[in-house]
Amino acid sequence: MTPRSVIRAVKHTIGTHPQSEITVSACCLTGGCSWTLTPTADLRAADLAAMAHTGRTGHPTFARTFQDVALVRRLELNEGQAEIPPLPAPH
Ligand SMILES: [Zn+2]
Repeated sequence: MTPRSVIRAVKHTIGTHPQSEITVSACCLTGGCSWTLTPTADLRAADLAAMAHTGRTGHPTFARTFQDVALVRRLELNEGQAEIPPLPAPH
């Protein structure tokens, strides 16, 4: 007898966890400038803060980091599994 296994492709989807929010942080890339934006979920306010910095200094480039909590779900749910697991606490 030969051992056999059945491997079945399962489709998944990934997106931002519905109980999470996208945050952005930024720092100015002009040499010698230490301007940074602390992480915020207010993306519009973050854009305005960077533009205000440019207006005051003329510094036009920023490194931005967007972060969220991603949730991967099977397109076919496992029986008995909660549809959306709770949002884990940050480390
Ligand atoms: Zn700057």
